[in-house]
Amino acid sequence: MLLRHTPKEITERSALTINPAKTCQPIGAMYAALGIHGCLPHSHGSQGCCAYHRSALTRHYKEPIAAATSSFTEGASVFGGQANLLQAIQNIFTVYEPDVIAVHTTCLSETIGDDLNQIRDKAQKEGKIPEGKHVIGANTPSYVGSHVTGFSNMVKAMAAAFATRTGHKNGKVNVIPGWVEPSDMEEIKRLAAMVGVPIILFPDTSGVLNAPLTGEYKMFPDGGVTVPELISSGDSLGTLALGEWCSADAARWLDANCKVPCMILDMPFGLKATDRFIDALRTVGGVSVPEEVMKERGQMVDFISDMHQYFYHKKVALAGDPDQLIAMVEFLVTLDMIPAYVVTGTPGKAFERRIKELTKDVPYECQVKAKGDMFLLHQWIKNDPVDLLIGNTYLKYIARDEDIPLLRWGFPILDRVGHQYFPTAGYKGGLRLLEKMLDLFLSRRDRDDPEQTFELVY
Ligand code: SF4
Repeated sequence: MLLRHTPKEITERSALTINPAKTCQPIGAMYAALGIHGCLPHSHGSQGCCAYHRSALTRHYKEPIAAATSSFTEGASVFGGQANLLQAIQNIFTVYEPDVIAVHTTCLSETIGDDLNQIRDKAQKEGKIPEGKHVIGANTPSYVGSHVTGFSNMVKAMAAAFATRTGHKNGKVNVIPGWVEPSDMEEIKRLAAMVGVPIILFPDTSGVLNAPLTGEYKMFPDGGVTVPELISSGDSLGTLALGEWCSADAARWLDANCKVPCMILDMPFGLKATDRFIDALRTVGGVSVPEEVMKERGQMVDFISDMHQYFYHKKVALAGDPDQLIAMVEFLVTLDMIPAYVVTGTPGKAFERRIKELTKDVPYECQVKAKGDMFLLHQWIKNDPVDLLIGNTYLKYIARDEDIPLLRWGFPILDRVGHQYFPTAGYKGGLRLLEKMLDLFLSRRDRDDPEQTFELVY
Protein backbone atom coordinates (compact mmCIF):
# COMPACT_ATOMS: atom_id res chain seq x y z
CA MET A 1 0.00 0.00 0.00
CA LEU A 2 2.11 2.85 -1.31
CA LEU A 3 -0.35 5.64 -0.60
CA ARG A 4 -1.80 4.10 2.55
CA HIS A 5 -1.73 7.43 4.36
CA THR A 6 -4.24 9.05 2.02
CA PRO A 7 -7.28 9.67 4.25
CA LYS A 8 -10.82 9.32 3.03
CA GLU A 9 -11.94 12.51 4.73
CA ILE A 10 -11.45 15.57 2.53
CA THR A 11 -10.40 18.74 4.30
CA GLU A 12 -9.92 22.19 2.78
CA ARG A 13 -6.31 22.78 1.68
CA SER A 14 -5.10 26.03 0.15
CA ALA A 15 -1.37 26.15 0.83
CA LEU A 16 -0.37 22.54 0.34
CA THR A 17 -0.09 20.47 -2.83
CA ILE A 18 0.43 16.72 -2.50
CA ASN A 19 1.38 14.69 -5.57
CA PRO A 20 0.97 17.55 -8.05
CA ALA A 21 -0.72 16.99 -11.38
CA LYS A 22 1.75 19.23 -13.21
CA THR A 23 5.42 19.95 -13.57
CA CYS A 24 7.47 23.09 -14.10
CA GLN A 25 7.21 25.69 -16.87
CA PRO A 26 10.61 25.26 -18.57
CA ILE A 27 9.88 21.61 -19.42
CA GLY A 28 7.08 22.81 -21.66
CA ALA A 29 9.25 25.53 -23.16
CA MET A 30 12.01 22.99 -23.84
CA TYR A 31 9.61 20.55 -25.52
CA ALA A 32 8.14 23.30 -27.71
CA ALA A 33 11.61 24.54 -28.72
CA LEU A 34 12.59 21.02 -29.84
CA GLY A 35 9.82 21.37 -32.43
CA ILE A 36 11.85 23.95 -34.40
CA HIS A 37 14.27 22.43 -36.88
CA GLY A 38 17.89 23.06 -35.91
CA CYS A 39 17.03 24.58 -32.54
CA LEU A 40 18.95 24.16 -29.31
CA PRO A 41 16.85 24.93 -26.23
CA HIS A 42 18.73 26.95 -23.63
CA SER A 43 17.88 27.08 -19.95
CA HIS A 44 18.76 30.42 -18.36
CA GLY A 45 19.38 29.31 -14.81
CA SER A 46 21.34 26.79 -12.82
CA GLN A 47 22.54 23.45 -14.16
CA GLY A 48 20.22 21.57 -11.83
CA CYS A 49 17.07 22.97 -13.46
CA CYS A 50 18.31 22.09 -16.94
CA ALA A 51 19.34 18.59 -15.89
CA TYR A 52 15.90 17.95 -14.41
CA HIS A 53 14.05 19.28 -17.47
CA ARG A 54 16.17 17.25 -19.86
CA SER A 55 15.79 14.07 -17.85
CA ALA A 56 12.00 14.51 -17.56
CA LEU A 57 11.75 14.72 -21.36
CA THR A 58 14.26 11.91 -21.91
CA ARG A 59 12.36 9.58 -19.61
CA HIS A 60 9.11 10.22 -21.51
CA TYR A 61 10.46 10.19 -25.08
CA LYS A 62 13.31 7.69 -24.59
CA GLU A 63 15.57 10.00 -26.58
CA PRO A 64 18.57 12.07 -25.48
CA ILE A 65 17.44 15.68 -25.11
CA ALA A 66 20.07 18.23 -26.08
CA ALA A 67 19.81 21.54 -24.22
CA ALA A 68 22.29 24.13 -22.99
CA THR A 69 22.34 26.05 -19.73
CA SER A 70 23.61 29.40 -18.44
CA SER A 71 25.10 27.46 -15.51
CA PHE A 72 24.39 29.99 -12.79
CA THR A 73 26.63 29.80 -9.74
CA GLU A 74 26.77 32.16 -6.76
CA GLY A 75 27.99 35.16 -8.80
CA ALA A 76 25.21 35.00 -11.40
CA SER A 77 22.66 34.42 -8.64
CA VAL A 78 23.66 37.71 -7.02
CA PHE A 79 24.61 39.92 -9.97
CA GLY A 80 22.34 38.49 -12.69
CA GLY A 81 23.01 36.07 -15.51
CA GLN A 82 23.72 38.45 -18.39
CA ALA A 83 27.42 37.61 -18.64
CA ASN A 84 26.67 33.87 -18.55
CA LEU A 85 24.06 34.09 -21.29
CA LEU A 86 26.22 36.26 -23.56
CA GLN A 87 29.06 33.77 -23.21
CA ALA A 88 26.69 30.85 -23.75
CA ILE A 89 25.26 32.33 -26.97
CA GLN A 90 28.76 32.77 -28.36
CA ASN A 91 29.88 29.28 -27.34
CA ILE A 92 26.75 27.55 -28.63
CA PHE A 93 26.88 29.13 -32.08
CA THR A 94 30.61 28.36 -32.30
CA VAL A 95 30.47 24.75 -31.12
CA TYR A 96 27.02 23.40 -32.07
CA GLU A 97 25.97 25.72 -34.92
CA PRO A 98 22.18 25.62 -34.40
CA ASP A 99 19.89 27.79 -36.54
CA VAL A 100 18.04 28.95 -33.44
CA ILE A 101 18.77 29.17 -29.73
CA ALA A 102 15.47 29.19 -27.81
CA VAL A 103 16.13 30.60 -24.35
CA HIS A 104 13.71 30.07 -21.49
CA THR A 105 14.07 31.47 -18.02
CA THR A 106 13.83 29.59 -14.72
CA CYS A 107 12.66 30.51 -11.23
CA LEU A 108 16.09 31.86 -10.37
CA SER A 109 16.65 34.13 -13.38
CA GLU A 110 13.06 35.38 -13.10
CA THR A 111 13.54 36.25 -9.44
CA ILE A 112 16.74 38.11 -10.26
CA GLY A 113 14.83 39.91 -13.03
CA ASP A 114 17.07 39.18 -16.03
CA ASP A 115 15.67 40.82 -19.18
CA LEU A 116 15.99 38.35 -22.06
CA ASN A 117 15.22 40.92 -24.78
CA GLN A 118 17.87 43.29 -23.51
CA ILE A 119 20.46 40.51 -23.30
CA ARG A 120 19.56 39.29 -26.79
CA ASP A 121 19.93 42.84 -28.19
CA LYS A 122 23.29 43.18 -26.49
CA ALA A 123 24.42 39.85 -27.99
CA GLN A 124 23.34 41.10 -31.41
CA LYS A 125 25.19 44.41 -30.99
CA GLU A 126 28.32 42.59 -29.87
CA GLY A 127 28.24 40.34 -32.94
CA LYS A 128 27.64 37.17 -30.94
CA ILE A 129 24.70 36.10 -33.13
CA PRO A 130 25.99 35.12 -36.58
CA GLU A 131 24.24 36.30 -39.75
CA GLY A 132 21.14 34.20 -40.46
CA LYS A 133 21.03 32.75 -36.93
CA HIS A 134 18.44 33.54 -34.30
CA VAL A 135 17.98 33.81 -30.54
CA ILE A 136 14.42 33.77 -29.25
CA GLY A 137 13.27 33.88 -25.64
CA ALA A 138 10.32 33.10 -23.41
CA ASN A 139 9.70 33.94 -19.77
CA THR A 140 8.88 30.75 -17.87
CA PRO A 141 8.85 31.42 -14.12
CA SER A 142 7.87 28.13 -12.57
CA TYR A 143 6.33 29.52 -9.40
CA VAL A 144 3.26 30.33 -11.50
CA GLY A 145 1.45 28.23 -14.10
CA SER A 146 2.75 24.82 -15.14
CA HIS A 147 4.57 23.01 -17.95
CA VAL A 148 1.53 23.85 -20.09
CA THR A 149 2.03 27.58 -19.51
CA GLY A 150 5.72 27.23 -20.39
CA PHE A 151 4.85 25.43 -23.61
CA SER A 152 2.35 28.13 -24.55
CA ASN A 153 4.82 30.92 -23.76
CA MET A 154 7.48 29.39 -26.01
CA VAL A 155 5.04 28.82 -28.88
CA LYS A 156 3.93 32.44 -28.64
CA ALA A 157 7.60 33.49 -28.62
CA MET A 158 8.12 31.56 -31.89
CA ALA A 159 5.30 33.46 -33.56
CA ALA A 160 6.41 36.80 -32.15
CA ALA A 161 10.04 36.29 -33.14
CA PHE A 162 9.54 35.05 -36.69
CA ALA A 163 6.07 35.56 -38.19
CA THR A 164 6.21 38.30 -40.80
CA ARG A 165 3.37 39.76 -42.80
CA THR A 166 4.37 40.64 -46.36
CA GLY A 167 0.86 41.20 -47.68
CA HIS A 168 1.08 38.20 -50.03
CA LYS A 169 -0.88 35.22 -48.75
CA ASN A 170 0.99 31.90 -48.90
CA GLY A 171 -2.10 29.72 -49.40
CA LYS A 172 -1.35 27.75 -46.22
CA VAL A 173 -3.07 27.28 -42.88
CA ASN A 174 -1.15 27.49 -39.61
CA VAL A 175 -1.91 24.63 -37.26
CA ILE A 176 -0.68 24.97 -33.69
CA PRO A 177 -1.09 21.47 -32.31
CA GLY A 178 -0.41 22.13 -28.63
CA TRP A 179 1.48 19.72 -26.41
CA VAL A 180 0.71 16.46 -28.12
CA GLU A 181 3.00 13.54 -28.91
CA PRO A 182 5.25 13.57 -31.99
CA SER A 183 3.04 10.76 -33.31
CA ASP A 184 -0.03 12.99 -32.93
CA MET A 185 1.71 15.80 -34.80
CA GLU A 186 2.44 13.33 -37.61
CA GLU A 187 -1.21 12.29 -37.58
CA ILE A 188 -2.40 15.90 -37.79
CA LYS A 189 -0.13 16.42 -40.82
CA ARG A 190 -1.42 13.22 -42.40
CA LEU A 191 -5.04 14.27 -41.94
CA ALA A 192 -4.39 17.75 -43.35
CA ALA A 193 -2.67 16.21 -46.38
CA MET A 194 -5.63 13.86 -46.90
CA VAL A 195 -8.05 16.77 -46.72
CA GLY A 196 -5.79 18.60 -49.17
CA VAL A 197 -4.90 21.64 -47.06
CA PRO A 198 -1.23 22.73 -47.01
CA ILE A 199 -0.32 23.57 -43.42
CA ILE A 200 2.48 25.04 -41.36
CA LEU A 201 2.55 23.01 -38.16
CA PHE A 202 4.37 24.59 -35.27
CA PRO A 203 5.93 23.39 -33.12
CA ASP A 204 6.49 20.03 -34.78
CA THR A 205 8.44 17.45 -32.79
CA SER A 206 7.75 14.60 -35.22
CA GLY A 207 11.01 13.43 -36.73
CA VAL A 208 12.80 14.96 -33.74
CA LEU A 209 11.65 12.91 -30.75
CA ASN A 210 10.59 9.82 -32.70
CA ALA A 211 13.37 9.88 -35.29
CA PRO A 212 14.67 6.56 -36.66
CA LEU A 213 17.91 4.96 -35.58
CA THR A 214 20.09 5.17 -38.67
CA GLY A 215 23.53 4.62 -37.20
CA GLU A 216 24.46 8.19 -38.04
CA TYR A 217 24.42 10.80 -35.23
CA LYS A 218 22.74 14.09 -36.03
CA MET A 219 22.96 16.91 -33.54
CA PHE A 220 19.76 18.28 -35.07
CA PRO A 221 17.38 15.63 -36.47
CA ASP A 222 15.55 16.17 -39.76
CA GLY A 223 12.17 17.06 -38.22
CA GLY A 224 10.81 20.32 -36.89
CA VAL A 225 9.22 23.41 -38.35
CA THR A 226 11.82 25.44 -40.27
CA VAL A 227 12.60 29.10 -39.72
CA PRO A 228 11.36 30.04 -43.26
CA GLU A 229 8.06 28.31 -42.45
CA LEU A 230 7.76 30.22 -39.17
CA ILE A 231 8.46 33.49 -40.98
CA SER A 232 5.82 32.61 -43.57
CA SER A 233 3.20 31.88 -40.87
CA GLY A 234 2.49 35.64 -40.86
CA ASP A 235 1.13 35.29 -44.42
CA SER A 236 -1.10 32.27 -43.85
CA LEU A 237 -4.82 32.15 -44.64
CA GLY A 238 -5.68 31.41 -41.04
CA THR A 239 -4.58 29.69 -37.87
CA LEU A 240 -6.18 26.71 -36.17
CA ALA A 241 -5.08 26.68 -32.54
CA LEU A 242 -5.68 23.28 -30.97
CA GLY A 243 -6.23 23.88 -27.29
CA GLU A 244 -6.96 27.10 -25.42
CA TRP A 245 -4.20 26.56 -22.85
CA CYS A 246 -1.37 25.46 -25.15
CA SER A 247 -1.98 27.22 -28.42
CA ALA A 248 -4.39 30.15 -28.20
CA ASP A 249 -1.89 32.83 -27.14
CA ALA A 250 0.26 32.32 -30.23
CA ALA A 251 -2.78 32.23 -32.50
CA ARG A 252 -4.16 35.45 -31.03
CA TRP A 253 -0.76 37.09 -31.42
CA LEU A 254 -0.76 36.18 -35.14
CA ASP A 255 -4.30 37.46 -35.46
CA ALA A 256 -3.54 40.79 -33.80
CA ASN A 257 -0.13 41.43 -35.33
CA CYS A 258 -0.20 39.75 -38.75
CA LYS A 259 -3.96 39.83 -39.43
CA VAL A 260 -4.06 36.03 -39.72
CA PRO A 261 -7.54 35.13 -38.46
CA CYS A 262 -7.62 32.38 -35.87
CA MET A 263 -9.99 29.72 -34.65
CA ILE A 264 -9.46 28.22 -31.22
CA LEU A 265 -10.47 24.57 -31.27
CA ASP A 266 -10.17 21.64 -28.91
CA MET A 267 -7.37 19.14 -29.45
CA PRO A 268 -8.56 16.53 -31.96
CA PHE A 269 -8.91 13.63 -29.52
CA GLY A 270 -12.14 11.65 -29.81
CA LEU A 271 -14.91 11.74 -32.37
CA LYS A 272 -16.48 15.16 -32.00
CA ALA A 273 -13.28 17.17 -31.52
CA THR A 274 -11.75 15.46 -34.58
CA ASP A 275 -14.92 16.25 -36.55
CA ARG A 276 -14.58 19.92 -35.64
CA PHE A 277 -10.90 19.95 -36.59
CA ILE A 278 -11.60 18.38 -40.00
CA ASP A 279 -14.49 20.77 -40.54
CA ALA A 280 -12.32 23.77 -39.67
CA LEU A 281 -9.60 22.59 -42.06
CA ARG A 282 -12.23 22.22 -44.76
CA THR A 283 -13.64 25.69 -44.15
CA VAL A 284 -10.36 27.58 -43.88
CA GLY A 285 -8.77 25.66 -46.76
CA GLY A 286 -11.86 25.94 -48.98
CA VAL A 287 -11.91 22.22 -49.82
CA SER A 288 -14.29 19.32 -49.35
CA VAL A 289 -13.61 16.32 -47.13
CA PRO A 290 -12.46 13.30 -49.17
CA GLU A 291 -13.89 9.81 -48.92
CA GLU A 292 -10.76 8.34 -47.24
CA VAL A 293 -11.27 10.61 -44.23
CA MET A 294 -14.95 9.71 -44.04
CA LYS A 295 -13.95 6.04 -44.14
CA GLU A 296 -11.67 6.44 -41.13
CA ARG A 297 -14.43 8.26 -39.30
CA GLY A 298 -16.90 5.52 -40.19
CA GLN A 299 -14.58 2.85 -38.80
CA MET A 300 -14.41 4.69 -35.50
CA VAL A 301 -18.20 5.06 -35.35
CA ASP A 302 -18.54 1.35 -36.14
CA PHE A 303 -16.20 0.42 -33.27
CA ILE A 304 -18.15 2.63 -30.89
CA SER A 305 -21.51 1.15 -31.85
CA ASP A 306 -20.24 -2.45 -31.79
CA MET A 307 -18.61 -2.15 -28.38
CA HIS A 308 -20.81 0.45 -26.72
CA GLN A 309 -22.06 -2.02 -24.11
CA TYR A 310 -18.57 -2.33 -22.59
CA PHE A 311 -18.13 1.42 -22.24
CA TYR A 312 -21.64 2.26 -21.08
CA HIS A 313 -21.71 4.01 -17.70
CA LYS A 314 -18.15 3.07 -16.77
CA LYS A 315 -16.85 5.60 -14.25
CA VAL A 316 -13.51 7.23 -14.93
CA ALA A 317 -11.10 9.41 -12.93
CA LEU A 318 -8.73 11.58 -14.96
CA ALA A 319 -5.64 13.68 -14.20
CA GLY A 320 -3.62 15.62 -16.74
CA ASP A 321 -3.44 18.84 -18.71
CA PRO A 322 -6.44 21.04 -19.50
CA ASP A 323 -6.54 20.81 -23.30
CA GLN A 324 -6.14 17.03 -23.36
CA LEU A 325 -8.63 16.52 -20.55
CA ILE A 326 -11.32 18.65 -22.18
CA ALA A 327 -11.13 16.61 -25.38
CA MET A 328 -10.98 13.31 -23.49
CA VAL A 329 -13.92 14.16 -21.24
CA GLU A 330 -16.01 15.01 -24.28
CA PHE A 331 -14.99 11.69 -25.84
CA LEU A 332 -15.96 9.75 -22.73
CA VAL A 333 -19.35 11.47 -22.66
CA THR A 334 -19.80 10.55 -26.34
CA LEU A 335 -19.24 6.92 -25.35
CA ASP A 336 -21.84 7.18 -22.55
CA MET A 337 -19.10 6.80 -19.99
CA ILE A 338 -18.99 8.83 -16.78
CA PRO A 339 -16.03 11.16 -16.26
CA ALA A 340 -16.53 11.23 -12.50
CA TYR A 341 -13.40 13.03 -11.27
CA VAL A 342 -11.16 15.37 -13.26
CA VAL A 343 -8.03 17.07 -11.93
CA THR A 344 -5.41 19.28 -13.53
CA GLY A 345 -2.49 20.95 -11.80
CA THR A 346 -2.66 23.87 -14.23
CA PRO A 347 -4.61 26.83 -12.87
CA GLY A 348 -7.70 28.21 -14.62
CA LYS A 349 -11.32 28.38 -13.48
CA ALA A 350 -12.36 28.30 -17.16
CA PHE A 351 -11.24 24.67 -17.17
CA GLU A 352 -13.65 23.79 -14.39
CA ARG A 353 -16.49 25.60 -16.16
CA ARG A 354 -15.78 23.77 -19.43
CA ILE A 355 -15.72 20.34 -17.78
CA LYS A 356 -18.95 21.11 -15.93
CA GLU A 357 -20.56 22.16 -19.20
CA LEU A 358 -19.40 18.99 -20.98
CA THR A 359 -20.70 16.73 -18.20
CA LYS A 360 -23.95 18.53 -17.39
CA ASP A 361 -26.13 15.72 -18.81
CA VAL A 362 -24.09 12.88 -17.33
CA PRO A 363 -26.03 10.97 -14.63
CA TYR A 364 -23.38 11.65 -11.97
CA GLU A 365 -22.17 14.92 -10.48
CA CYS A 366 -18.69 15.30 -11.95
CA GLN A 367 -16.06 16.60 -9.52
CA VAL A 368 -13.49 18.83 -11.19
CA LYS A 369 -10.53 20.83 -9.87
CA ALA A 370 -8.04 23.09 -11.59
CA LYS A 371 -4.83 23.67 -9.65
CA GLY A 372 -5.65 20.39 -7.94
CA ASP A 373 -3.51 17.38 -7.14
CA MET A 374 -3.56 13.60 -7.27
CA PHE A 375 -4.02 13.38 -3.52
CA LEU A 376 -7.47 14.93 -3.89
CA LEU A 377 -8.24 12.64 -6.82
CA HIS A 378 -7.31 9.66 -4.64
CA GLN A 379 -9.56 10.89 -1.84
CA TRP A 380 -12.51 11.22 -4.22
CA ILE A 381 -11.85 7.66 -5.44
CA LYS A 382 -11.65 6.35 -1.89
CA ASN A 383 -15.08 7.81 -1.22
CA ASP A 384 -16.65 6.44 -4.40
CA PRO A 385 -14.52 4.18 -6.63
CA VAL A 386 -14.19 4.27 -10.40
CA ASP A 387 -13.70 1.64 -13.11
CA LEU A 388 -10.80 3.29 -14.91
CA LEU A 389 -8.02 5.80 -14.37
CA ILE A 390 -6.71 7.91 -17.25
CA GLY A 391 -3.53 9.93 -16.87
CA ASN A 392 0.23 9.83 -16.59
CA THR A 393 2.50 7.29 -14.93
CA TYR A 394 2.20 8.91 -11.50
CA LEU A 395 -1.34 7.55 -11.29
CA LYS A 396 0.05 4.02 -11.06
CA TYR A 397 0.31 4.36 -7.29
CA ILE A 398 -3.44 4.98 -6.99
CA ALA A 399 -4.08 2.25 -9.58
CA ARG A 400 -2.14 -0.27 -7.50
CA ASP A 401 -3.56 0.74 -4.14
CA GLU A 402 -7.16 0.81 -5.29
CA ASP A 403 -6.84 -2.01 -7.86
CA ILE A 404 -8.13 0.08 -10.77
CA PRO A 405 -6.90 -0.31 -14.37
CA LEU A 406 -4.86 2.64 -15.67
CA LEU A 407 -4.81 3.95 -19.21
CA ARG A 408 -1.51 5.78 -19.51
CA TRP A 409 -2.18 8.93 -21.49
CA GLY A 410 -0.60 12.38 -21.20
CA PHE A 411 2.72 13.54 -19.84
CA PRO A 412 4.87 12.03 -18.48
CA ILE A 413 4.68 8.33 -19.31
CA LEU A 414 7.81 6.92 -17.77
CA ASP A 415 7.16 3.20 -17.64
CA ARG A 416 5.68 2.36 -21.05
CA VAL A 417 6.57 3.10 -24.67
CA GLY A 418 4.54 3.58 -27.82
CA HIS A 419 3.20 7.09 -27.29
CA GLN A 420 5.98 8.46 -29.50
CA TYR A 421 4.99 6.23 -32.41
CA PHE A 422 1.25 5.53 -32.22
CA PRO A 423 -1.08 8.54 -32.25
CA THR A 424 -4.20 8.93 -30.18
CA ALA A 425 -5.31 12.03 -32.14
CA GLY A 426 -7.67 11.90 -35.10
CA TYR A 427 -9.95 9.01 -36.04
CA LYS A 428 -7.18 6.41 -36.22
CA GLY A 429 -5.86 7.61 -32.89
CA GLY A 430 -9.38 7.44 -31.47
CA LEU A 431 -9.55 3.79 -32.51
CA ARG A 432 -6.36 3.19 -30.55
CA LEU A 433 -7.82 4.84 -27.45
CA LEU A 434 -10.96 2.73 -27.77
CA GLU A 435 -8.92 -0.43 -28.22
CA LYS A 436 -6.79 0.32 -25.17
CA MET A 437 -9.78 1.09 -22.96
CA LEU A 438 -11.65 -1.99 -24.12
CA ASP A 439 -8.59 -4.13 -23.53
CA LEU A 440 -8.38 -2.91 -19.95
CA PHE A 441 -12.06 -3.57 -19.26
CA LEU A 442 -12.07 -7.06 -20.81
CA SER A 443 -8.78 -8.03 -19.16
CA ARG A 444 -10.43 -7.19 -15.84
CA ARG A 445 -13.33 -9.49 -16.65
CA ASP A 446 -10.90 -12.27 -17.62
CA ARG A 447 -9.20 -11.82 -14.27
CA ASP A 448 -12.18 -11.19 -12.02
CA ASP A 449 -15.27 -12.92 -13.44
CA PRO A 450 -16.45 -15.97 -11.48
CA GLU A 451 -16.40 -19.26 -13.38
CA GLN A 452 -20.14 -19.13 -14.13
CA THR A 453 -19.74 -15.93 -16.19
CA PHE A 454 -16.20 -16.47 -17.48
CA GLU A 455 -16.59 -16.57 -21.26
CA LEU A 456 -14.42 -17.25 -24.27
CA VAL A 457 -16.24 -14.50 -26.14
CA TYR A 458 -17.71 -11.48 -24.38
S1 SF4 B 1 10.60 24.67 -10.40
FE1 SF4 B 1 12.02 26.37 -10.83
S2 SF4 B 1 13.86 25.87 -9.65
FE2 SF4 B 1 12.66 23.98 -9.82
S3 SF4 B 1 13.46 22.94 -11.65
FE3 SF4 B 1 11.70 24.18 -12.29
S4 SF4 B 1 12.61 26.12 -12.98
FE4 SF4 B 1 14.17 25.07 -11.73
